[in-house]
Amino acid sequence: MNIAVRALFIAFAISNLIVAAHAQDECGQEYLRHELFNKNPESYNLLLKQINAYPLVSNLKRKHEIVESPIPVIFHVLLNEQQFESLGETIGLRNFINSAMNVINKDFNGENADSSLIPTAFKSQMSSIGIRFALARVSPNGNSCSGYEIKIIDSPGYSAAGQYGSGIAFSDCKYSAIGGLDIWDPSSYLNVWIVNTLGTNILAITISPLVASIYQPTLQNEIGVVMHYKILGLRDTSQPHIYGREKGRVLTHELGHFFEISHTWGDDNGLCPDNGGVDDGIEDTPPESNAIFGCPIFPVFDQCSSSFPGIMFMNFMDYSDDNCRYMFTKKQGEKMLSCIQPFGESFSLVSHPELIDSSNNKSDVSIYRIFPNPSHAEEIKILFSRVPTELRYIKIYNALGQVVYYLDTKNQAKGFYKVIFHAPGIYTVECGLTQPSFQKVIIF
Ligand SMILES: [Zn+2]
Repeated sequence: MNIAVRALFIAFAISNLIVAAHAQDECGQEYLRHELFNKNPESYNLLLKQINAYPLVSNLKRKHEIVESPIPVIFHVLLNEQQFESLGETIGLRNFINSAMNVINKDFNGENADSSLIPTAFKSQMSSIGIRFALARVSPNGNSCSGYEIKIIDSPGYSAAGQYGSGIAFSDCKYSAIGGLDIWDPSSYLNVWIVNTLGTNILAITISPLVASIYQPTLQNEIGVVMHYKILGLRDTSQPHIYGREKGRVLTHELGHFFEISHTWGDDNGLCPDNGGVDDGIEDTPPESNAIFGCPIFPVFDQCSSSFPGIMFMNFMDYSDDNCRYMFTKKQGEKMLSCIQPFGESFSLVSHPELIDSSNNKSDVSIYRIFPNPSHAEEIKILFSRVPTELRYIKIYNALGQVVYYLDTKNQAKGFYKVIFHAPGIYTVECGLTQPSFQKVIIF
């Protein structure tokens, strides 16, 4: 088959697979490719060609000479109040984010403890890639930041089919014009949106720089990962979770897509490389017919790998449960590393050490928001972008300068406060930070 015809065939195979894939909870890569094909078949064919042609880094410099700096990561969190509370508000969210960062740093560097479970037959293929990530500490406007921003929304979440932007891949959460949170410059930051994904079993989806470059200009504003809030970081079953996705590995998997590697089975509707399938284009992952779910016992064989050692279901780019996937291969690593080469699409992401170090940045203004403001209700909420350990008190004055509310917050700082008002009027909220900070609020 020539390339164009083959690409078309694969696209239709993907559309058939969508139905089956939606019965399971995982990433939206197949959905995305289907949508991209519908948007523009010619661009889709070009995308497939370029993904497959993406070079390996084999003969270039060693990784430690390549990686300049950890990649600054910004989490844009959009949850309603009930979802936010279920995560333990700002403190709980911060813990999930920190554990998520830990997981991806370990997984990308072969430091995950469960790598000891890799079967001997695959052990030598395990990769320590050498890409590191750090929370962004300086925002695009030069202020200090915590690496995450939180917006409390009124709706239960976002549908994959958006009304704004590209209209695919939960695009509505990425635009402040319609209540979302805008992307931070994707050439400097890796953007991750944390939301409740509605109406689908897609738990996460990634717009990679390559996809965005082919589908310009819309997707340029949507580069990054969207993830369900219940799969962020490490969690136990007493916390909001999705079964099998409690170890933060979905973000590891999605970042694989961000760095242009595909599912181990190639999203080709069960085909094998010797009967027209595409597989994943990576030579050291065994051919595989379809995704693996759950936690099988090694070895597992299928029609594409019928002899020992069988398929590599413990690869991060398969769909196995989080606690049953624990490796990238060397060739997957080489393909990802090529993205951060000086000629690579994500080179600029490893070139901003100043964005992960706020020690020279003293402007720490506007670390909290008051909403709704003005308020027709009796209640306002004060939301800090991080837990303000230096917050000593919250005072509220009426228009006459009288203190109508006082809360001593020493030793019990929280990131989220609610205050009830008993009379309409104009009030001033004073937050006792290192430098007291004032904001006006109007109650109708
Ligand atoms: Zn995926």
